[in-house]
Amino acid sequence: MYANRIDRLQTAMTDTGVTAVLLSVGTDLPYFTGYEAMPLERITMLVVRPTGVPTLVIPELEVPRVKVDPAFEVRGWGEMEDSIGIVVDLAGDAGLVAVGDQCWSGFLLDLQRRIPGAFWQSATPLTLPMRMRKTADEVEALRATAASADRVAARLANQPFSGRTEADLTVWIEAALREEGNDGLSFQAIVASGPNAASPHHHGGSRVMTAGDTVVCDFGGRMGGYCSDTTRTFVVGEPSAAVAAAHAVLHSAQQAAVAAVRPGVTAESIDRVARQVIEEAGYGAYFIHRTGHGIGLDVHEHPYIVEGNDLILEPGMAFSIEPGIYMPGEYGMRIEDIVVVTEDGVDNLNRSSRELVSV
Ligand code: ZN
Ligand code: ZN
Ligand code: ZN
Repeated sequence: MYANRIDRLQTAMTDTGVTAVLLSVGTDLPYFTGYEAMPLERITMLVVRPTGVPTLVIPELEVPRVKVDPAFEVRGWGEMEDSIGIVVDLAGDAGLVAVGDQCWSGFLLDLQRRIPGAFWQSATPLTLPMRMRKTADEVEALRATAASADRVAARLANQPFSGRTEADLTVWIEAALREEGNDGLSFQAIVASGPNAASPHHHGGSRVMTAGDTVVCDFGGRMGGYCSDTTRTFVVGEPSAAVAAAHAVLHSAQQAAVAAVRPGVTAESIDRVARQVIEEAGYGAYFIHRTGHGIGLDVHEHPYIVEGNDLILEPGMAFSIEPGIYMPGEYGMRIEDIVVVTEDGVDNLNRSSRELVSV
């Protein structure tokens, strides 16, 4: 699998005249090698030339972490070695060097100084077309972790909320994600209650949840590197008429956007579908973010479902559909599913209830 991906990368390099691709921390590296760099001060870098077997330059003490694969060679560097020099030698003559978007600027600045005369560009134009279209195996990995998030959502509906702090429920959600089979989290879970729920990326704190609160719970795990990301909104006790009305609008907007996903339409058209339903109901000013983001090895990656992105959706693209309504000082709500574009429509990976569940 990794040999095949590297082969496609090398073909793209040849087609575009790129003489070296350098990948460090971040998810391009595991995409091509299965190895995730430790994001520390010692350099880890995959050096890919247009032909030949790439080399993974890695601190010697971390070599045992690497799962050996014929797709690449491993060059461990000792503490006293010139690690940047090793990368420079492997990168070859100054040419057109493409660097992964996630790479410490300290490494890049050193490399730029020591390969004078090279032209530098982002590796993303080379990697994006590959990473954006998920293979069947990648979709199954996304489906497995999405199902685990659905199980957590179902268990959440039976949890006590009233009298409990947001931070306490955050801890519970994160433990539940691990119990349901994830080996890690894709991000720190969000629990936002009452007025805090109007802040889309609120991190749960000491606020105690109380009757009438809406509670936005946004969470996801990672299985085999692939991420889940799901949001459900709960209400403590009975919802007010205003909350119930807004949630009904949000639910239909989210479902309309999911139903609009198919190959051949643009990313921005999906954003418009969700936004139109919310605007027509009079809540347009309170839907303050894009409709969604791609997901895979990264919890946020291309394609972004946002006005201005005229990218044409293709089978295999995976992304969130997560409209929200945020009423400052009062309440907030969001519904988020992960969907995959199929040959003729959409596959919604999340199946848990999207209703406003009373807790
Ligand atoms: Zn978000
Ligand atoms: Zn989310
Ligand atoms: Zn999301």
